[in-house]
Amino acid sequence: MEMPEWQVHEYNPDLYFLRQSGCTDYEKPFVFLLFGAGRALLLDTGSRRGNIAPQIQLTVHRWLVRNNRASIPLVVVHTHSHSDHVAGDAELQALNDPGIPITYVAPTVEATQKFYGMRRWPDDPGSVDLGSRIIDVLAIPGHDAAGVALYDRQTAIMFTGDSVYPGRLYIRDLLAFEKSNERMLRFTEGKVLAHILGNHIEQSRTPYLDYPVGTMYQPNEHEWALSRGALLEIQAGLAGMHGKPQRIMYRDFSLWPVAPLVQETDETRAAFKQTQKQQLDHMWDQTQP
Ligand SMILES: [Zn+2]
Ligand SMILES: [Zn+2]
Repeated sequence: MEMPEWQVHEYNPDLYFLRQSGCTDYEKPFVFLLFGAGRALLLDTGSRRGNIAPQIQLTVHRWLVRNNRASIPLVVVHTHSHSDHVAGDAELQALNDPGIPITYVAPTVEATQKFYGMRRWPDDPGSVDLGSRIIDVLAIPGHDAAGVALYDRQTAIMFTGDSVYPGRLYIRDLLAFEKSNERMLRFTEGKVLAHILGNHIEQSRTPYLDYPVGTMYQPNEHEWALSRGALLEIQAGLAGMHGKPQRIMYRDFSLWPVAPLVQETDETRAAFKQTQKQQLDHMWDQTQP
């Protein structure tokens, strides 16, 4: 089940991972589609040029056929509010498909807190029941003020957005990020945790080596899933900073505090342009230097 813009992986008959093609946008984010007995949940809508609506329609309609149903309500939610994960929002909100009535939850603290019934943000957890399928939700601000992590009790997968993934973990609010990581550690203590799945892969298979920002073609990617060990490593790294932002590389990811303390420079902008140009020049033959 594939369209040029999206690669679709059926993890099981009620859980789909969609990844946006690097040819459409170097961010190539992941998007998640979960089905319960009563409704489906779409976690994120991808980056620019994703053209996600036809792919979601196709995947949902195949599920409907397989389950001998005419329709299922779809709730659109987000891991956080950044543009590379909400770009398909408008096209999904505009989707006029009687088989897929859409409920849209805006990627704001207010809307997120209300939808999941989180009493106090960010301390209290929330949840959503898709029908015989409960998803737990934790507020994890720090990368983005509206960030959440979702824990699917059915598969024991935790979806962590841009806060934990094999790549550069951009930290905008160090203290909030540290508390969010502790929240995830406490929540998962003693629980089965099959995989931590984030929204990007920027790390290569070579320990400590990541792909430069702007890379579209990554033939030697790090495996996508991380374990609870990553949370412990992050906790130790943050504790060692003692509140002073510091870039730290690890084997599988790096901690990367950003503005206002670390500004984008002419040098980083030039490196990004160079990477993009090189890759676009060799769009159909990325093996050539
Ligand atoms: Zn982000
Ligand atoms: Zn992102």
